[in-house]
Amino acid sequence: MTRHVETLVVGGGISGLVCAYALQKSGVEVLLMEASARPGGVIHSVRRDGYLLELGPQSFSGTSELKGLCVELGIAGQLVTAPPRAPRYVLLDGKLQAVPMSPLAFFTSSLINGSAKWALVRDVVGRSAPPKSDESVAAFVRRKLSDQLLERLVGPFVSGVYAGDPEKLSIRSAFPQVYEAEKASGSIVRGMLRLAREKKGSRERATLNAFREGNETLVRILANQLGRRLLTKTAAANLYRQNDGSFYISLEGSSNDPVSAKNVIFATPTDVTGKLLAQIDPSFEPLLTTVEYPAVAVVSLGYAKKDVGHSLEGFGFLVPRSAGLRILGTVWNSSLFPDRAPEGHVHLTTFVGGATDPNAARLSSAELSGLVHREIVPLLAIKSDPTFCNVAIWPRALPQYNLGHGDRLASINKNLARFPGLFLAGNYLRGPAIGACVEQALRVAEQVKPRAA
Ligand SMILES: Cc1cc2nc3c(=O)[nH]c(=O)nc-3n(C[C@H](O)[C@H](O)[C@H](O)COP(=O)(O)OP(=O)(O)OC[C@H]3O[C@@H](n4cnc5c(N)ncnc54)[C@H](O)[C@@H]3O)c2cc1C
Repeated sequence: MTRHVETLVVGGGISGLVCAYALQKSGVEVLLMEASARPGGVIHSVRRDGYLLELGPQSFSGTSELKGLCVELGIAGQLVTAPPRAPRYVLLDGKLQAVPMSPLAFFTSSLINGSAKWALVRDVVGRSAPPKSDESVAAFVRRKLSDQLLERLVGPFVSGVYAGDPEKLSIRSAFPQVYEAEKASGSIVRGMLRLAREKKGSRERATLNAFREGNETLVRILANQLGRRLLTKTAAANLYRQNDGSFYISLEGSSNDPVSAKNVIFATPTDVTGKLLAQIDPSFEPLLTTVEYPAVAVVSLGYAKKDVGHSLEGFGFLVPRSAGLRILGTVWNSSLFPDRAPEGHVHLTTFVGGATDPNAARLSSAELSGLVHREIVPLLAIKSDPTFCNVAIWPRALPQYNLGHGDRLASINKNLARFPGLFLAGNYLRGPAIGACVEQALRVAEQVKPRAA
């Protein structure tokens, strides 16, 4: 029997959950279907042997929308904040060196040579304009700053956010604020300062947060709010457009009754979305399914504190590709948030793989944990084997905002305009961070509301 709903959301990661919750709250009749047994997508927290593991995102920037949502859901008290001044390190010449976090620290840092510092001065006093064509992050940094800065700081930072390749990522799509700063002010520094001034007052300073009991706290409460409006183990299999413009979706999984809906929001990764939308217009498929998602392995290791020579005071470290290691970086979880490891132990999470090392995630769990242990031992003066180990592999971890991404999204939006009632949400649209996904999902809910009235 066909089930009729006003609005169907497909995909129960954070994007789909927030969108469905916001619609339900405004009185829209909504149904959310999630293919797997557990809502949350890549947000997955596990407690094992006294360790709190985050298999996906370790922490998130506490944007005002995200904090507002937590207040509304009654879970703001469960947010924990990382020490705001926790230093971040980068591996250079075999040593972990603190990343300069202020203009003064930048100009006095031995990490960056004179030509990079001079390039920044030139940016402040001079004027430049971005090229008309899409520019890679690497080309942007070489044009505006220096090769050294790209290798030592920007490359590692790009690994940390996108697990991406700066030669392929588009500055305009991956870091739109930096692109807009140069475009609007003729200078990255002047433009970013202007942006910060404009935001002042309207937004509080973003903090680095997690939930005391794991980031799945947010997912669980959203799922609870949706109650029976959330169907798990239910995948959208086929999509048809009906004569009245509404949509018919056949399902696979525990609920096999097809659904007919006036509005459908796809909050699924692009490979799934592309194949489903191709059934109503084949031109969607090449636009969506070709977005690159590299694999990433998340390796959590625990050690007895007494066996780690490094103080671990800070956020963790990133590794430039030129260092010749396979690890991308390590987060010092037990230094950032409470209760991440049993008493007397430390908890370190290391990322391997990404766009610059596609073969790494094909290694076995034992090979990955062995590799990570071997590579971090000399950096952190570790004197024993790990006492705890967990490996999670995400075969399609994060969408890459590569060159041409902006044109790709423009073509997708042009196609979508021909199908009123069809909407997209997800981490390939306005940034991969949880805060960006929440913001985008709330925006989509606002667009759907008038159609549901
Ligand atoms: C390893 C890793 C580390 C990260 N670290 C951080 C971090 O530190 N900070 C941060 O802010 N962000 C981080 N991110 C990014 C952020 O977590 C994600 O971008 C965000 O959670 C994605 O949410 P989403 O809902 O858009 O997509 P997803 O979480 O991918 O959800 C999509 C959902 O769709 C479901 N689905 C698929 N096919 C179907 C179908 N046919 N029918 C129904 N459902 C279907 C899937 O099962 C899934 O649940 C990280 C991501 C990864 C992978």
